[in-house]
Amino acid sequence: MAATLLDGNKIANEIRAEVAAEVRTLSAAGVRPGLAVILVGNNPASEIYVRGKVKSSEEVGIYSERLTPAENITTDELLELVLELNHREEIDGILVQLPLPPQVDSKKILMAVDPAKDVDGFHPVNVGFLSTQRSGLVPCTPAGIIEILKRSGIPIAGQEAVVVGRSDIVGKPVAMLLINGNATVTVCHSKTRDLPGVCRRADILVAAIGRAGMITRDFVKPGATVIDVGMNKVTDQGEFQRLFAGNAKREESFRAKGSTLVPGGVGPLTIAMLMSNTVKAAKLRRGSRVPELSRA
Ligand code: NAP
Repeated sequence: MAATLLDGNKIANEIRAEVAAEVRTLSAAGVRPGLAVILVGNNPASEIYVRGKVKSSEEVGIYSERLTPAENITTDELLELVLELNHREEIDGILVQLPLPPQVDSKKILMAVDPAKDVDGFHPVNVGFLSTQRSGLVPCTPAGIIEILKRSGIPIAGQEAVVVGRSDIVGKPVAMLLINGNATVTVCHSKTRDLPGVCRRADILVAAIGRAGMITRDFVKPGATVIDVGMNKVTDQGEFQRLFAGNAKREESFRAKGSTLVPGGVGPLTIAMLMSNTVKAAKLRRGSRVPELSRA
């Protein structure tokens, strides 16, 4: 059976265009949604992610602010910064880029973000809203996965869905969204017995594992939809050969850099959903005070 490739980039572009149109409507009503991104220290990967988020905000018309405290910031100092953002009227979304340095209590920081501005959807209040099917802010990557399925015309209700991975950021929230969409959901992890056998039951298989090339042909039932969330760096020569033997371009770059990145197709959706969450937060928080917004 020939495989159909789901186009994450195309869907992300559609969502960004919709968000840009909403931002124009909000601006006409006198509101410009605002996003504050906190980037602590100089983690190169985090710097790249944050640059992408700020650039994307500008493209869709969202006001964005980058706050860059030094690597040695304390939990209390960072808490103070978050509380200040909680109180600023023009900031609708607050994103704390993870990971934070080891001296900072990440859980305490994430708990301090006003749930109404928690555009990452990590605050327990938003986790509770998701599990009780109330309107709130949903984590971006899982929300993006559901958008890929819906916009590709893949039914969710009544389907067998298998999620590999149970993190708070991806695995658990995507499982919850699939349950809310009336799928029959199984969540797998590193202690699951017969992972290939469980995965083969899936009509929809979501791989959020953190290891490249785990899900191979014998994990997938013919006709199943597979969403690969992974974004993994391969540095081991044997692993590289298993995945890319014969791919001359990859081999050349692997020799030069000593690593290769194996991305799934979900990355662009994560940023698109962050933009969408920021607009949603602006509407939920300011809607009651600006009548035009409740209709936007
Ligand atoms: P994580 O916190 O490391 O969780 C990985 C999960 O996979 C865990 O639940 C773990 O099980 C499970 N797992 C690991 N090895 C396994 C195995 N051999 N068999 C079965 N399950 C196994 O990772 P995460 O934050 O959820 O991220 C998952 C992947 O998505 C990563 O590659 C990450 O880079 C990527 N990601 C991409 C985006 C994007 O925008 N595209 C966003 C977020 C994350 P245990 O719980 O038993 O340890």
